[in-house]
Amino acid sequence: MPTNARYGRVLLKISGEALMGNREYGLDPEIVDRVAGEVKSVVGMGVQVCLVIGGGNIFRGVSGAATGMERATADYMGMLATVINALAMQSALERRGVQTRVQSAIPMASVCEPYIRRRAVRHMEKGRVVIFGAGTGNPFFTTDTAAALRASEMGCDALLKGTKVDGVYSADPNKDPSAQRFESLTHLEVLAKDLQVMDASAISLARENKIPILVFSIHTAGAFAEVMAGRGKFTIIT
Ligand code: UDP
Repeated sequence: MPTNARYGRVLLKISGEALMGNREYGLDPEIVDRVAGEVKSVVGMGVQVCLVIGGGNIFRGVSGAATGMERATADYMGMLATVINALAMQSALERRGVQTRVQSAIPMASVCEPYIRRRAVRHMEKGRVVIFGAGTGNPFFTTDTAAALRASEMGCDALLKGTKVDGVYSADPNKDPSAQRFESLTHLEVLAKDLQVMDASAISLARENKIPILVFSIHTAGAFAEVMAGRGKFTIIT
């Protein structure tokens, strides 16, 4: 266990939109680089880190299906979008000297490794950051569920969810100024109150596997490392 971190192995989930900055679509290279810096500082604490990045900044299955496309096809396009984001993050991390591997749930041998659980664990033991692409590999799922699944498979001590705000609120604080912020919650409370932090299947999976979820702002400089040290602002779901 690293000396100054409260967890030895964690999975960080960020949405594709978190990497979009003020753009309407795609990636903002400055933000990708900044998030890579956040990850690097946590790796520097001796923590084993793996990542799941969404794809909503490029393509979302539900939106594709709304145009008349078959849902499963649209979801495969969404999964491919997550691989694009994974490669962008890999590049940003490696520019900063952090060793990484991308593993895709949909094998694409000339682009990255296929997802192999034991191999991913080994990479992390060697200090490499593993970025999981293509979600769960199955349509009708989300990358939130992929994050809870991979965190369970990797035996992570915690699942960190980097969002736009500094924790879980009763409503979107950017839209509703009376929204109440929670310091801590149980997985069951999140489900019962229908709080929009991660989808219900992700919360259930984390609950079954007793994985705490820490929700914090990925846009606050240094927040990821602060949360790992048990400081800063976050909501913990246990
Ligand atoms: N997706 C999927 N199966 C998965 C994960 C993702 O089909 O296991 C597809 C789905 O279409 C989703 C898209 O990939 O809309 C992008 O993922 P998500 O919406 O979770 O990204 P985020 O909102 O985190 O950016």
